[in-house]
Amino acid sequence: MKCPYCQQNDSSVIDSRELQGGESIRRRRRCNACGQRFTTYERIELASFMVVKKSGQREEYNQQKLRARLRLAFTKRPISEAQIDAMIARIERELLALGQAEIPSSKIGDVVMRELQELDQIAYIRFASVYRNFADLEDLRQAVDQLSHGRAAARRNGGDGGEDEGGGAAPQGGAG
Ligand SMILES: [Zn+2]
Repeated sequence: MKCPYCQQNDSSVIDSRELQGGESIRRRRRCNACGQRFTTYERIELASFMVVKKSGQREEYNQQKLRARLRLAFTKRPISEAQIDAMIARIERELLALGQAEIPSSKIGDVVMRELQELDQIAYIRFASVYRNFADLEDLRQAVDQLSHGRAAARRNGGDGGEDEGGGAAPQGGAG
């Protein structure tokens, strides 16, 4: 590790400390050339691939960016940081499982939307309004519509089975 003071590539670790439950390590180092101390952080790179944007531009996948977007979507929603962590882990697992060095941003958006749909509908709509670039209220209405259709389909597929469609929908009698 290059010393930030004298640029020499000769330092010793004088202290290591695990942070965030072992997800990252903070190391204090001392430069053997000039004696100055500095800190480095080491963390596991869970996901590494290039994101291909709509414009065709490529940039390295950035977990911090995704986290910032999710936090924004979850503003004032009852979602904990731990839930966001778990969600990011699921998204990264799914994307890495594609085994591609380059992944279109639209594909990432789809995976994120699917996760949000399961977790929080308000956040889903917020994220979708940015990601899908809603032009007007009609776009928003369509997304909400898709959301309720999607959930209805999930209920139908996710049931114990054996129950036919339409069962249990007894009409309510009007009084007065
Ligand atoms: Zn130095």
